[in-house]
Amino acid sequence: MRIPLRVLLASPRGFCAGVERAIAIVEHAIEAHEAPVYVRHEIVHNARVVRDLEAQGAIFVEELHEVPDGAVTIFSAHGVPASVEAEAEKRGLPVYDATCPLVSKVHNHGIRFAREGRNIVLIGHAGHAEVEGTLGQIPAPVHLVATAEDVVALPLADDAPVAYLTQTTLSVDETRAVIAALQARFADCVGPDVADICYATQNRQTAVRDLAKRVDAIIVVGAANSSNSTRLAEIARSCGVPAWLVSDAQGFDPAWLNGTMRLGITAGASAPDVLVQELLARLGQTRDLSVSELDGIRENVSFSLPPALRRLSARSVRAG
Ligand code: SF4
Repeated sequence: MRIPLRVLLASPRGFCAGVERAIAIVEHAIEAHEAPVYVRHEIVHNARVVRDLEAQGAIFVEELHEVPDGAVTIFSAHGVPASVEAEAEKRGLPVYDATCPLVSKVHNHGIRFAREGRNIVLIGHAGHAEVEGTLGQIPAPVHLVATAEDVVALPLADDAPVAYLTQTTLSVDETRAVIAALQARFADCVGPDVADICYATQNRQTAVRDLAKRVDAIIVVGAANSSNSTRLAEIARSCGVPAWLVSDAQGFDPAWLNGTMRLGITAGASAPDVLVQELLARLGQTRDLSVSELDGIRENVSFSLPPALRRLSARSVRAG
């Protein structure tokens, strides 16, 4: 006899407005210019998204020197250092910038703080593409910290003027603790509070906390290199619930669910819904599923395409 499994889906989960816009930019660029178009870095951190766009004619590269002269080039949602923008301009590459507007907002804050002569502290994870981009957009030295302990070790006088910025996809709670440590150490400390951790990150983290109260285990669908997906699994575990991050249904091991009667599922901001549907199909092969979705914050955020691409797309629709 098959054992029943109650599945609760977190809400919201999956794609955010920044990811939807980035994917739309690649698709519209292919339509307007014809394939191939070159994308610097994974457009968003998800292998399925990358594969689907490759099938449509996108070529993914890590560095600009891999882009042939004259080829249409797209910067990923994570943003790029100013040096990459300058190199593209020097080579005269036609560029569409898919940097999420919320990441650009962090860059703009940083540029303003640098102009004001403040010592800038970026709360984020070393090596992440967004952090690399932000570090490279600010025309001043930036101190990178990840924890409250890092704040204690900062080589700055306690009366130095400080401004902080945050990577958009951090854990809201951890970031609050780091900001509190900065404010406790530096009397003259300004920054945009956790509001710069984007709405999508906050909403998905709130939803996974709510989910954790109602289930025995949680599966997060998302890539291991996706910062916001990794945080979702960490938060679920910190709520005392076993949690696994899987990039797709193949990554799921049915043995994880021995003894589980209520399973929660969520997905990171760069994970397409088809991956959740495939996971449900796989679960349904061994258990009798009843699936429902929790009530959650409704999102109605959308970001428009870059104006140049909007104009071209409108023209090709009229011509077609
Ligand atoms: S997670 Fe937030 S900052 Fe990142 S792409 Fe999505 S909306 Fe933009």
